Amino acid sequence: MRQTHHPIAVVVLASLSSVVMAQGVGYTDTPKLPGQEWKVHDKDRPNPPVIDPGPAASEPAPPPSDAIVLFDGTNTDAWQHAGGRDAEWIVKDDGSMQVKAGSGDLLTRQSFGDCQLHIEWATPTTVIGESQGRGNSGVFFFGMYEIQILDSYDNTTYADGQAAALYGQYPPEVNACRAPGEWQTYDIIFEAPRFDSKGNLEKPAFVTVIHNGVVVHNRREFLGRTAHRALPSYAPHKAKGPIKLQDHGNPMRFRNIWVRPLVSTPENT
Ligand code: MG
Repeated sequence: MRQTHHPIAVVVLASLSSVVMAQGVGYTDTPKLPGQEWKVHDKDRPNPPVIDPGPAASEPAPPPSDAIVLFDGTNTDAWQHAGGRDAEWIVKDDGSMQVKAGSGDLLTRQSFGDCQLHIEWATPTTVIGESQGRGNSGVFFFGMYEIQILDSYDNTTYADGQAAALYGQYPPEVNACRAPGEWQTYDIIFEAPRFDSKGNLEKPAFVTVIHNGVVVHNRREFLGRTAHRALPSYAPHKAKGPIKLQDHGNPMRFRNIWVRPLVSTPENT
């Protein structure tokens, strides 16, 4: 159905949105996070201190022998778009794969439960946009629990939406970002949530995130599935699921992606 907009209504909505997201760095009209003193994407939540993690390694470190390699610089065979469509992201001469804007998120063909993930990413060297519009992607376990990827180098956004945040839930302990165009690493240990046979939550998901060699979350609890401007919550799912990389429209690059399933994952998937 065709929608029509009354011109006065559009003006009122535009001015309202400038109130709820003041200066593009947060919201005032979102619900309070359980167990925290902050709202979702709270504009008053302090951004964590900025630290220098040191320079990137000139070459990526080789994966351990028992890792499942998800991207080694040659092809995107381990990945697919929703519905099983072959991956359209671009394999580049520098051994990276780059988001093809508009092609959609990428999902691993294989599913994982508890796991250790290594991934390297670089935001565009040429800086375009600000806040959430600049160098945005994300790593989603089970396609639903996001560790934010963002160019958070001299780029202010709401604290729970900056790089390495559990998006919409917790900021990282420090901002360990490198400059645009430089390679950055995430080493992530993810513990999947557990549900009983009736679908009740037995144990939430936990995550440890090491950004450029710096611990920024130490076994942090996920409050539920990642949400935007809304409270996270859990809904039951299988013991394994795909890892997703987000197409947020920015030409992000990724390289040297590998995963090690952990033996703690239940067998009855
Ligand atoms: Mg994102």
